[in-house]
Order: sequence, then structure tokens, then C-alpha cells
Amino acid sequence: MNIVLLGAPGAGKGTQAALLEKKYNLVHISTGDIFRANIKGGTPIGKVAKSYIDAGQLVPDSVTCDIVKDRLQQEDVKAGYMLDGFPRNLFQAQELDKFARVDACINISVDPALLMDRICGRRVCSCGASYHVSTLGGRTTCEKCGKPLYQRDDDNPETVGARLKTYQTQTAPLIDYYGAQGKLITIECGTASPDGVFAMICEKLDAIIK
Ligand code: AMP
Repeated sequence: MNIVLLGAPGAGKGTQAALLEKKYNLVHISTGDIFRANIKGGTPIGKVAKSYIDAGQLVPDSVTCDIVKDRLQQEDVKAGYMLDGFPRNLFQAQELDKFARVDACINISVDPALLMDRICGRRVCSCGASYHVSTLGGRTTCEKCGKPLYQRDDDNPETVGARLKTYQTQTAPLIDYYGAQGKLITIECGTASPDGVFAMICEKLDAIIK
């Protein structure tokens, strides 16, 4: 099964992807993670991506689509994967349809008023774990692996404002795109915990898999 995870920044796509990866054995492909690894490694892609990411804008489609196309040609994704953060606009969605099959799009819907605080309070670990400062009680290391937690460079109020606008104007139209294809599964998170959201997603996915 091949899944697209859709949702505003801070909706919890990464958290849900980590849970789904374990339960359904799907490979988690995050374009944001790929760009951050390239920035860390000082690669040419990283150099291009950094200015866009810092500004809260999308990295150009040509760069992004090539990365995903290459990744989906690798052996490990044959049994199924989740795309987290791709596609992020209509052009990318149309390109994806040319080189891959999407079975379902899970739209994680969160009250927009919660997003700024969620993202600016986020502390992450290189192992993929993510926390909110309000739950850490001063702790500065990861509960899962003990490594130091840090704040993403683009998790500051100015960049987050731009990212949320980019989401509204460019990414949100994909809800209708996948809806029209009959592939959309919308999860209204309300006040549900990450585990509660995961349970809602599993219920819908299990119904499709049967
Ligand atoms: P994320 O980790 O998904 O929040 O992505 C962080 C940043 O990486 C975004 O704000 C964009 O600048 C860039 N990015 C990630 N995925 C894409 C994509 N599909 N298209 C263009 N830019 C992307």
C-alpha cells in the first residue's frame, strides 16, 4: 500500500508516520528529512534547499520531484511506503501520478489555531522522536535514545508563519485533488492524543486493506 500523508506543518505527520511504519511495515519517506540530511552533509541539493526552507517556501519542484522519483526506484519501497511532506502542490501531485501509484491520502486535520504553538514549542531528536517543551519539564535529552534534543532552524515564529501560508495556498488544494480521486481519508483530530489519532487512522486503513 502506498500512502500520501497530508496535513499542515505541526499536524503530526511525522509522529503518525513513525507509528504507521511499525504497524504496517511501510517505508517512511519524508522530503523534509531528506533536505535536512542534505543540508547537514553540505551537498549541492542541501545548498539549494536551505534558502527556501529558511524562508518557509517550497524547494523548487524540479529538485523535489527528482529526489522522490529516485527514492521510489529503490528496492525497499516495493512493498509499500508513506510519503510525508510530498506532494506539496498540485504540480508535484500530478508528477507523482506519472511515476507512482497512490492508494490513499490521509489528511490529518488540526485546528489551525494550535499549529504555531505546537511547532515553535517542538523539540526533536535525530532518532526522529518529537516532543513539546511543555511536556519536557526541563528535560533536554530524548526519552527514547538519550541523545540531546534540539529545535529545528525553521521552527521559529517568522518561518512558521510563512510555512503555514505556503500550506494554505499551495498544499491545501491537494485535499480536493485526492478527494476527487476517491482516495481521501480525513482524520479530524480535535483534542485527540497522538495515540488517539493513530487509532482513528488504523480504523480507516484496516477497512481499506480488508
Ligand atoms: P517538513 O519537514 O515536511 O516540514 O519540510 C521542511 C521544509 O522542507 C518545508 O518547509 C519546505 O521548505 C521543504 N520541503 C519539504 N518537502 C517539500 C516538498 N515536497 N516540496 C518543496 N519543498 C519541500
